[in-house]
Amino acid sequence: MKHLKIDHLGIAVPGLDAAVAAYEALGFAVEARHDVPTEKVRTAFLPVGESHLELLEPTDPSSPIARFLEKRSGLHHVCVLVDDVDAALADMKARGVPLVDETPRVGAGGCRVAFVHPKGAAGVLLELKERERGDETPRAEG
Ligand code: ZN
Repeated sequence: MKHLKIDHLGIAVPGLDAAVAAYEALGFAVEARHDVPTEKVRTAFLPVGESHLELLEPTDPSSPIARFLEKRSGLHHVCVLVDDVDAALADMKARGVPLVDETPRVGAGGCRVAFVHPKGAAGVLLELKERERGDETPRAEG
């Protein structure tokens, strides 16, 4: 398994527009916005060098982000780009790592992603994202 880079850091926010305004005041700019109905979130991606910040606003009280925000706000997950998400999952499964996703799900923009349980990553929700074939610039996802 090869970890290529930090793809993005996911930050849970109660209101996307207010969070975008706050980050614009910090000098960041929005590159893309996505609605991700399957995850019940709206997101904005702000580039930081080769990586991004992903601001996530829940669009429904049943969204995992809404449940997270009931307890705290701020950093929600770290996303690492990998060559092959199936191989990474198989490797982790063989090592007994607790997984949220046993098989990859499809995020916005068609990216293949999977989540590792925080119990397996020192309390951090870890997202694995598969590099797109023939595309060195990964697209944003939820
Ligand atoms: Zn993410």
